[in-house]
Amino acid sequence: MFDVTVIGGGMIGASAARHLAQAGLEVAVVASPEPVDPAGHTGPFGAHYDVTRLSRTVQPGAVEAELARRARASMASIEEFADRPVFTGPGHLFVSRPEDDEGMGEAVRNLPPGHGVEVLDGQALADRYPAMRFQAGMVGYREPGSGACLNPRALVAAQLAAAASAGAHVVARHAVGMSVDATCAVSLDDGSQIESRRVLLATGAFTNASGLLEGPLAMRMKTEMVLLAELAAGEAERLGDLPPTHYAIDDGFVSDVYTAPPTTYPDGSVLLKWGANTITDRWVTDPADIAAWYCSGDSNSAIPMVRPSMEATFPGLEAVGWRTQRCVVAYTGHGMPYIDALVPGKVFLAVGGNGRSAKWADPLGALAASLTEAGEWVDPLPADRFRKLFVGEVDNWAGRELLSDR
Ligand SMILES: Cc1cc2nc3c(=O)[nH]c(=O)nc-3n(C[C@H](O)[C@H](O)[C@H](O)COP(=O)(O)OP(=O)(O)OC[C@H]3O[C@@H](n4cnc5c(N)ncnc54)[C@H](O)[C@@H]3O)c2cc1C
Repeated sequence: MFDVTVIGGGMIGASAARHLAQAGLEVAVVASPEPVDPAGHTGPFGAHYDVTRLSRTVQPGAVEAELARRARASMASIEEFADRPVFTGPGHLFVSRPEDDEGMGEAVRNLPPGHGVEVLDGQALADRYPAMRFQAGMVGYREPGSGACLNPRALVAAQLAAAASAGAHVVARHAVGMSVDATCAVSLDDGSQIESRRVLLATGAFTNASGLLEGPLAMRMKTEMVLLAELAAGEAERLGDLPPTHYAIDDGFVSDVYTAPPTTYPDGSVLLKWGANTITDRWVTDPADIAAWYCSGDSNSAIPMVRPSMEATFPGLEAVGWRTQRCVVAYTGHGMPYIDALVPGKVFLAVGGNGRSAKWADPLGALAASLTEAGEWVDPLPADRFRKLFVGEVDNWAGRELLSDR
């Protein structure tokens, strides 16, 4: 009998498992493995099947800023268990027009003296990043330091390694059922069962599809595509020291761009990433729809619409090939993950990354672990910001509407 079964060994679940195991609990983690053949995969998918995610420290909101502070403080302890670097690259660059800066301008103005964040106007951006061309009227906020690029696969692997070294039992299966009585019994896809006193659900975009809930949570899942330009060695070197950048571009087909410097992918190719909300994005609620997008979604059809914005931003970009990557973003009603009790004292939740939780994976995992261990909210952060919401309980969804609806 375990103390806790964590269902979902992704960014938040793996982090929670680590913190629970390091707190001395007997932990089992049901970590559905990344599919070798996505097209034929019939189980759940994860939003961490990638080599880059962006992480920035300056955050307008107090809760977000505290999560960012905790995330930065946890970097070294994650690298300790890593089999490859998790945090790389220079500090983050945020570029937008003042009216679209999501409060970044004010957040930087309110930072204590000596913060080191550079404010770059259009000319300064052009001087600092001659390989990039931003639209007129943009202002850049360049964070000092390093590590604004994190490798989600490496982070998950490091957190699971840390959990295992603290005694956790990692099971590469997926959960298909759960019964809750005096204890909890989790049924796996191979017919076996895991028994524990408590369960933590960290199942991401597949939570409502998991068959583990009595009623659906208020979650909206959006298709996300990432455009990748394949670069030859010379071009990769030319663009090699670009910062991980968030760019509030003004474009008819894309918005909220995130781009990472040229990075080597598992197949050995070096790719320049151009991720964004696009005019082709859509909501996918039905489990079959979510899986179909991952398995065989037609993300390549968006290339002609998305490529021009990338080429305008990287003038003279020489790509030897183009490809896309598909993923799904899970939004909650209030914009923060649901970290809450589902069945008091028994079943807990940590779901809904809102497209921004890779950078906060460790502190969110720690929050979920402290709630699951104590059976109640004990962290100084406000529980209300993480409260669960069920279908029908959301009047105004936090976050953005689809670009096609704006
Ligand atoms: C394209 C893209 C770009 C992004 N860029 C950024 C970024 O730059 N910065 C940032 O901070 N965030 C970013 N994000 C968001 C970030 O990746 C997510 O917020 C984060 O991965 C959410 O973590 P999670 O643990 O909730 O979900 P996931 O990482 O998806 O993990 C959930 C896990 O649960 C497993 N699972 C599901 N059901 C079951 C089951 N029944 N049994 C067992 N296992 C199950 C899944 O297989 C998966 O491994 C991005 C997301 C996408 C899609």
